[in-house]
Amino acid sequence: MIVAPGSTIGIIGGGQLGRMLALAGAQLGYKCHILDPNPIAAAAQVSAHFTCAAYDDLGALREMADSVDVATYEFENLPVGPLEILGDKLNPSTRSLEIAQDRAREKAFIEKCGGRVASWRQIGAAGDVASAVAELGCPIVLKTRRWGYDGKGQAWVRADGETANAWSAIGEEASIAEAGVDFFAEFSVILARWTDGRHCFWDSAQNEHGGGILRRSTVPSSAEVALQIAEAREAALRIAEALGHVGVLTVEFFASRDGPVVNEIAPRVHNSGHWTIEGAVTSQFEQHVRAICGLPPGSTDLVGSGAVMDNLIGDEVHGWADLVAQPDLHVHIYGKGEARPGRKMGHVTRVTR
Ligand code: AMP
Repeated sequence: MIVAPGSTIGIIGGGQLGRMLALAGAQLGYKCHILDPNPIAAAAQVSAHFTCAAYDDLGALREMADSVDVATYEFENLPVGPLEILGDKLNPSTRSLEIAQDRAREKAFIEKCGGRVASWRQIGAAGDVASAVAELGCPIVLKTRRWGYDGKGQAWVRADGETANAWSAIGEEASIAEAGVDFFAEFSVILARWTDGRHCFWDSAQNEHGGGILRRSTVPSSAEVALQIAEAREAALRIAEALGHVGVLTVEFFASRDGPVVNEIAPRVHNSGHWTIEGAVTSQFEQHVRAICGLPPGSTDLVGSGAVMDNLIGDEVHGWADLVAQPDLHVHIYGKGEARPGRKMGHVTRVTR
């Protein structure tokens, strides 16, 4: 089914990803309708319609279901049940969301699809942490099954004596314990998939994190990482197909000496794909709109020889005057208000020629 320009796209979540989706939608002539509980949601500022409501507000979701032509979401920490109201209009479907928002289901699903993951165990009590250390050895990282992002909801156990502290640091919540992966780089595979199975990949960015937060994405990746991309793409596509995913899907990988290890999946556009706005013929945001509206794929070719994207985190956004003074730098500021530490406030991209 083709949803033609002029139609309305509902977007659940109004952060920077929703904002960039709405801008891409507007370019193609769509109107976007944002639903977000934050009255100054970044995406609402650039969209035709805005409902300020909780993600489980059934009345607001019903109204959105009746008024939009197609719907999508921009982050995965959403209650799944209420979203069922959107029915077939929602892409990706709630299945992608259900798997991606629970780290235990996600790991099991990736393994079922033949993807390599770090050895892991389910954790429900303090004793499980000690058993995981005994079985997997140190270091391990505890990650809450739900609601974690940007390194939040994680605690490392680097020595036997640290188990109790780590368990309390993650709030004694249902978790997984994951063996520390000895990786030499991190990279992501971003693909877009259509209802009929057509799909495309962008070049993989090599990603650098600090404190669990993405700092920089660089395309092309190093030659060592490039050797792992074919295998990683195969795994990512198998995951997308098994999910019946429609739209953009991101799979984050560790490049290890044993090959690519899946860290996690995001059923959506991703920070490590922001470089595609200026660095690729078609951005991840436009392609997501094309995929969920049934338009043909745009080219994912590079515009130049590559791109470097740096996040503006917290106070860094206050340096905007120096950044806009660099004529070849593409500056994006998300309009999010207070620049709290660790908050993604914007990003800059330099396309390499
Ligand atoms: P995540 O929120 O799971 O993406 O984790 C944030 C960052 O923590 C990752 O990008 C890695 O840099 C690091 N990390 C997470 N899990 C592991 C692991 N099992 N081994 C080594 N580093 C990890």
